[in-house]
Amino acid sequence: MAPPDERSAVFIDSHAHLADPAFAGDRGEVVARARAAGALAIVCIGESIDAATIAAACATENPGFVFASAGVHPHDAAQFDASRDIPKLRALLAGGAVAVGECGLDYHYDNSPRQAQRIAFSSQVALAAETSRPVIVHTRDAEDDTRAVIADARASGVTGVLHCYTGTHALAEFALDAGWYVSFSGIVTFKKWTDDALLRLVPDDRLLVESDSPYLAPVPFRGKRNEPAWVAHTVARLAAARGVDPTELGRATADNAERLFGLAPRAA
Ligand SMILES: [Zn+2]
Repeated sequence: MAPPDERSAVFIDSHAHLADPAFAGDRGEVVARARAAGALAIVCIGESIDAATIAAACATENPGFVFASAGVHPHDAAQFDASRDIPKLRALLAGGAVAVGECGLDYHYDNSPRQAQRIAFSSQVALAAETSRPVIVHTRDAEDDTRAVIADARASGVTGVLHCYTGTHALAEFALDAGWYVSFSGIVTFKKWTDDALLRLVPDDRLLVESDSPYLAPVPFRGKRNEPAWVAHTVARLAAARGVDPTELGRATADNAERLFGLAPRAA
């Protein structure tokens, strides 16, 4: 496939770990390259209190372009202490963070005990309900428990996004039915990706794209440190699978990100 014309690309990177130490030396240049590649905005993920604090600073430095989230990743759920951490997350949300997360369940790596993961996830969904924010959810090999939390979220009026989604069609459909969004990363550009039907299952108005940088660089950059500018390649792959124009698809995913996260991007 020909590389996308990056000048005509339009997208919002709905999930970038710009707070990661991988970007400590050149975060400003990475943000500038994203703008040049057609990004309208970047959601900078706070997957820990420390990361969320850096994400908030990055948002302050890039008003109307970088937006922060605040949460605790399931890998770190063993260290989650609701009485200590929820007030910190609440303060970050009051300070402008647009979503709760990255939170969720990961029973593939089981880096934290499952019960601790469930408690941390449910606490963050409750915080999302309290603060009227969406949740950004990581789910892996935890389908039944993820469904249960999505059902609880639905009952309390919370929606969100299944980020970097590679799971079953059934879970995607369950989340879509609850009003959620589904986001795809550079994984869909890899040779081993075979589930194009999943890429077509998500309606135009519920589809998001993301870098998940610094991880998961899309082809042709696979193995390199990923960055938001390269989301254009993921948009092109999704558009090819769906048989639509990449510029229109990118614009639709940007509209969706603005709607879900309540973003108001503005030109530099
Ligand atoms: Zn992530």
